[in-house]
Amino acid sequence: MPYSPELFERTQEIIDNRRLDAERKAEEKRAAFEKEEPQYAKNRLIMIDSMRQVFQAMSARTDTEELAVILQEMKMKNLAAQDDNRRLLREHGMAEDALDPKYTCKKCSDYGYIETKRCECFMELLRQLAFEEAGKKSPLRFSSFEEFRLDYYSETVNPDFGCSPRQRMEDILELCREYAANFDLHSQNLLMIGETGLGKTHLSLAIAGEAIRKGYGVLYNSAQNIFSELEREHFSRSAKDGEFESLIFESDLLVIDDLGAEFSTQFTNAALYNIINTRINTARPTIINTNLNLQDLEDKYTRRISSRLIGEYLSLVFFGEDIRQKKNG
Ligand SMILES: [Zn+2]
Repeated sequence: MPYSPELFERTQEIIDNRRLDAERKAEEKRAAFEKEEPQYAKNRLIMIDSMRQVFQAMSARTDTEELAVILQEMKMKNLAAQDDNRRLLREHGMAEDALDPKYTCKKCSDYGYIETKRCECFMELLRQLAFEEAGKKSPLRFSSFEEFRLDYYSETVNPDFGCSPRQRMEDILELCREYAANFDLHSQNLLMIGETGLGKTHLSLAIAGEAIRKGYGVLYNSAQNIFSELEREHFSRSAKDGEFESLIFESDLLVIDDLGAEFSTQFTNAALYNIINTRINTARPTIINTNLNLQDLEDKYTRRISSRLIGEYLSLVFFGEDIRQKKNG
């Protein structure tokens, strides 16, 4: 996936700060401890001095036998000082590594690379920042299942659906909770259909939040923002070329909110088909929310799009009255 150089820089900066921060804190802790226990500092000086002497002896090319004696002597000195420092820590009821820097990533000690290879922690953070960046244009905040209020939905049976909005929402809520709890790359695609204000956005945000907590790369945005960003990227030439598109294709979960509200053009139709198709082919789950019913979807887009949605997505049909007025009232 292509990332911009700025994003690489920002990632390295965050990781460098993690390291500096861990080392600064360790330094402070050690200074405080040494105030209480000056012998700890003395032992540390012995260690540094023994290393210096080893280095000197080696560069002075003393004869082999003599060198071996010095090395052995310094090694013993060094080990004794280390032992004594461990003893001091124990006597103060501290763990042996209590004064070591606490790195976020133990593999690379927050350098971001191991030898010449980028560490996993670097790639993970880079990815996370890219998703954050891509989601920034979305005005939505993540919501939770706990906040979802079933009591806003009417218990009057709707003859068209054979159940009440409340019953339908109980089923949908249960399904979404399970979907989120079990979310992985094998999860189904969901198509949430229904008028504005019935909770589609709330539930898809709750799923997205859960997937993020599980460590998945999630991209959530409105159809309008997604298409305009793709269009901008498509028709401009910058270093960030293709970054947003890659995130759309490669995110573990993509949520397209409010499909159908955007101004549709040939470009948006082609882009939508491409997104739906590519993600089906690469087995990456997608959730689409729309106010349009299946017939509207076919009219607005094309048959090939609506048939993929019908065939490859699990449709959740929301109905009832706009609950936002009840919330505000
Ligand atoms: Zn690392």
